Amino acid sequence: MPDPSELQMLFAQLNNEHFGGEIPAHRIAYNARFSNLAGRITYKPPLIELSPKHFERHPEALRETLLHEMIHAWLFARGENPGHTVRFKRKMDELGLGSIYHELGSAVPRRESARRFILRCDRCTLEVLRKRRPGVQVSCGRCSRKQFDPRYRLRVLEVLDTRDVSGEVRAAHGGRSSGRSV
Ligand SMILES: [Zn+2]
Ligand SMILES: [Zn+2]
Repeated sequence: MPDPSELQMLFAQLNNEHFGGEIPAHRIAYNARFSNLAGRITYKPPLIELSPKHFERHPEALRETLLHEMIHAWLFARGENPGHTVRFKRKMDELGLGSIYHELGSAVPRRESARRFILRCDRCTLEVLRKRRPGVQVSCGRCSRKQFDPRYRLRVLEVLDTRDVSGEVRAAHGGRSSGRSV
């Protein structure tokens, strides 16, 4: 598997090759906590995370997954709907990814944005998936004793897309995040 700096180089290379360098800088990182997820992109902060467990076993799928997430980033950068739209599929076809992700069309309603929110505790790495941005600040249920403890405030990540290990796109509804309570 490529190490993190090689991932970063791969991103830059693919960006130039297939997107005219239009995708703004993203950090590309492994997330060892992913179990069902193969990859995930957040646009705030701009970050693409990949599962080391999954790509150790399927190294051949890494490039495709990275490209998939980069299409989301590219559409977002262009101010277009970053979800799995017709435009998204056209770009996939252009990159030769069409056959691999043929199930995409039925997995997600075409015009639905894949955008959602993850609340993350930087101390214990608990993550909770939300469809909406929380209206008030919340702290980690594991780390804080009190109702709200600003020391363990959960960071809000704005997520564009998550891909599970089967290559299917997950529905926007939660349930499979690693957290129990907020
Ligand atoms: Zn915590
Ligand atoms: Zn996607």
